[in-house]
Amino acid sequence: MFQVTGGNKGIGYGIVKNLCEQYSGTVYLTARDEGRGKAAVQSLNKLGLKPEFHQLDVDSDESVKKFAAFIKEKHGGLDVLVNNAAIAFKNDATDPFGHQAEVTLKTNYFSLLRVCNALMPLLRPHARVVHLSSSAGHLLRIPGEDLRKKFSDPNLTVDELSKLMNKFIEDAKRGDYLNHGWPNSCYVVSKVGVSALTMIQAREIKDDPREDIVINCVHPGYVDTDMTSHKGPLTIEQGADAPTYLALLPENCTSPKGDYIWHNRKIVDW
Ligand code: NDP
Repeated sequence: MFQVTGGNKGIGYGIVKNLCEQYSGTVYLTARDEGRGKAAVQSLNKLGLKPEFHQLDVDSDESVKKFAAFIKEKHGGLDVLVNNAAIAFKNDATDPFGHQAEVTLKTNYFSLLRVCNALMPLLRPHARVVHLSSSAGHLLRIPGEDLRKKFSDPNLTVDELSKLMNKFIEDAKRGDYLNHGWPNSCYVVSKVGVSALTMIQAREIKDDPREDIVINCVHPGYVDTDMTSHKGPLTIEQGADAPTYLALLPENCTSPKGDYIWHNRKIVDW
């Protein structure tokens, strides 16, 4: 049983397509909008592929809880979770920076965490978790050395990471975020948060009684999607390749594991 968030278009759609082609079990294409999600399923049906649809708005507690209850009831567990859904303000957006910080981190970090909290308890042994990070999620995109140390502290907890994310929102709203070592991009902070979360979760899952659960994050490359205003040179198929590779890692693989992968499937030192 596979599930991909934000599967109605872009890279998420490409991942669903690949999984339908390469995996014999049930694949769920989820989307916040039922009309857009079902239209995406229909377009895959025309290619002879048969994903299931379920509504899932990662920003909504209720929607996420409903989906988790449905999966538990119908399938009893989950073998792959791909956290793909995210947003990005355009470079020329005129919304105040503090607002952009709050909205971006809400979906890209806090909602991804909400999905993890609801669905990771349902993961079966040998499950694979893939978080869509970005080249923007590289630690070196954070200018402040002290901040970088906090993000990469091997004892950092999820609660402490969430506090750091909230600190950015506060600093952004006050307008002195640059003085505190943050970059001039909410998207960068959100994706560094996703990468840091991957490292923490991979560390914590080692003590889990369920064997061989592997968590990685990935930069899919610069891809021709709505998010990039179609400026990325890679096709959706190319962008979906590395996330699909991570979703289908064989049982008991030793690497990549708790890693940050580039679109050429190579591990990059975070
Ligand atoms: P798109 O903007 O094309 O697609 C984003 C998807 O996420 C859409 O299906 C969108 O749904 C969905 N989504 C947004 N908010 C929610 C929500 N609250 N609940 C459920 N779904 C939601 O983006 P891409 O395909 O380009 O990006 C996919 C992932 O890859 C993202 O995590 C992105 O940050 C990452 N990435 C992309 C790169 C690129 O070059 N494209 C580069 C690096 C990373 P809806 O249609 O309803 O808006």
